[in-house]
Amino acid sequence: QRVGFALVGLGRLSLEELLPAFGECRRARPVALVSGTPEKARAVAEQYGIRREAIYDYASFDSIRDNPDIQVVYVVLPNGMHHEFTLRAARAGKHVLCEKPMANTAAEAQEMVEACRAAGVKLMVAYRCQHEPYNRQAVDLLRAGELGRPRFMEAMNTQVQGEVAQWRFSKALAGGGALPDIGLYCLNAARFYSGEEPVEVFARIDSPRDDPRYREVEESMAFMLRFPSGLIANCACSYGAHESKDLRVRLEKGWIDVENAFAYRGQSLRLARRVGKAEGIEERRLGQRNQFAAEMDHMAQCVLAGRAPRTPGEEGLQDHRVMEALYERARSGGPVGLPAVAGPDATR
Ligand code: NAD
Repeated sequence: QRVGFALVGLGRLSLEELLPAFGECRRARPVALVSGTPEKARAVAEQYGIRREAIYDYASFDSIRDNPDIQVVYVVLPNGMHHEFTLRAARAGKHVLCEKPMANTAAEAQEMVEACRAAGVKLMVAYRCQHEPYNRQAVDLLRAGELGRPRFMEAMNTQVQGEVAQWRFSKALAGGGALPDIGLYCLNAARFYSGEEPVEVFARIDSPRDDPRYREVEESMAFMLRFPSGLIANCACSYGAHESKDLRVRLEKGWIDVENAFAYRGQSLRLARRVGKAEGIEERRLGQRNQFAAEMDHMAQCVLAGRAPRTPGEEGLQDHRVMEALYERARSGGPVGLPAVAGPDATR
């Protein structure tokens, strides 16, 4: 028994990752497409065996209500459109899987949670890393307690954003810059790994002043989260630095490094701990599983079993609350100046 998904938005993620990943799903299948470009939708539908009558555009979207094959609507549009399409899907009585970031603001995220609750449909946010085996293994190691208390986390998500004219540089369509797009992975991992909610945040933004892409949104943000246990997460995200997507946890009795923790593929995990007087370093090898397939199957299984998803709307809402605190901190917290130090020439 497979659950039917309607994909809304046929951009890069849908075409390059999600549609191919259905081939590895056990419980999910694509049954409908929603796109503003009919020729593209027809070609894609043909390729994936989707009926022509199950192609919708943004105006005819609400008639998905009359298509019983569609059980889940997967919203893969620019961030600023997630709120509208989640509300419309809920009104059509369909469960929603929504791409990250869930919305542009915490207020929108809250409305999405409430609308899905009122309509009696499930809402899941597509935090794929929470379905990826290496990240899950690292969390299991942390929770097992053998390495003691986690003290520090470092999480980086940087990639050069090459495509100049696109929605990611518009505040209305993206909600923000590197933070909601890629920094969110660091934030969500810090919460998911620790199982705690941050109680204090610190943040700094830096964007090149003369680059028109960064008039509305930030290029880079460094931020720090402090958790009740005393764990501190140091995070950074940027559209201006070469790709780096690693996560490290420093614990009392060892460390865990997950390379490419936030990448689509290519993860690895190294673990260090004291063995007698020596330091043992172990590399764990796990089978790679397509994390998009795992995530879509999870949603399908939740629908079939009537269970709540692992990353429900509330999870996305909490990330939005923290992101708003980070922006607020970046705006309001002035830097602490240091006196200029004379260079070596001046001291001679
Ligand atoms: P994209 O630009 O490649 O695709 C966006 C799609 O939305 C296009 O098909 C475009 O035609 C359509 N669209 C409709 N109205 C639009 C408008 N007003 N302006 C621009 N496009 C419009 O983007 P993408 O990279 O596929 O991202 C889509 C969503 O998926 C975003 O929310 C993004 O954050 C998320 N995403 C998630 C991951 C992940 O790993 N989970 C990876 C990439 C993107």
